[in-house]
Amino acid sequence: MKKNNVVMPGDQLSTSEELLPGDGTFEENGIIRASRMGTYHVDEKYKRAKVQPLTSIPVILRKGDIVLARIAVTKPSMIITDIIHVIGKERSISGETNSTIHASEISQSYIKDASTEYKVGDIVRAQIIQVQPSIQLTTKGRELGAIKALCTKCRRPLVKHDNALECQNCGNKERRTIAPDYGNVDIKAL
Ligand SMILES: [Zn+2]
Repeated sequence: MKKNNVVMPGDQLSTSEELLPGDGTFEENGIIRASRMGTYHVDEKYKRAKVQPLTSIPVILRKGDIVLARIAVTKPSMIITDIIHVIGKERSISGETNSTIHASEISQSYIKDASTEYKVGDIVRAQIIQVQPSIQLTTKGRELGAIKALCTKCRRPLVKHDNALECQNCGNKERRTIAPDYGNVDIKAL
C-alpha cells in the first residue's frame, strides 16, 4: 500500500516484518491492516503504520444520506452494519454508527435469508432510511449494494467475473447483492 492513500477497514497496509501496527491499524497473521477508513501514514522514526481519520470535524447522519457500511453480523432476518463513511463528506461520523439492513431492504427481489447476500467484512454502499430510534439502511437502490467483498474461506477480496464473484487466491465462488460498480470504486473519489 502506498503512503497517503485513502484506505478502507481491512485493507492490507504492510507486514509485521516491515512495520509495527499503530493508531487505526491492527495486526492479523503477520499482516497489518486498517481498522478504520482514513489516510495511510508511516511514522518512519518508529517504523509504525497508522491510519488517520479523514478529518476531525464530525458529520451527523441524516435520512437520505448515502453511506459506506461494513457488515458486522449476518442473520437470516437482518444484517447488522457499522457505518464508516458518508459519501461526499470528508469527515468522521459523530455518534451512533451501528445500523441494520432488514432482509426486505436488501434487494428489489425477494430475499428469504439476508445472510446469503452479505457476509462479515463486506463493504456496502447503502442509503439511510431511518435515523431514530435506530439507524436503518437500504441497499434496494440502483447504485446500492456491496462494493467490496471478502472470500469467506481465505479473506482475500472477491473479483467480479461475468456474473459471479470469484476468489483469485483459492478459486472459491460466492454470491452477493452487488452494486453495478463493484470492484471499480475509486475510494479516493468518495
Ligand atoms: Zn479465497
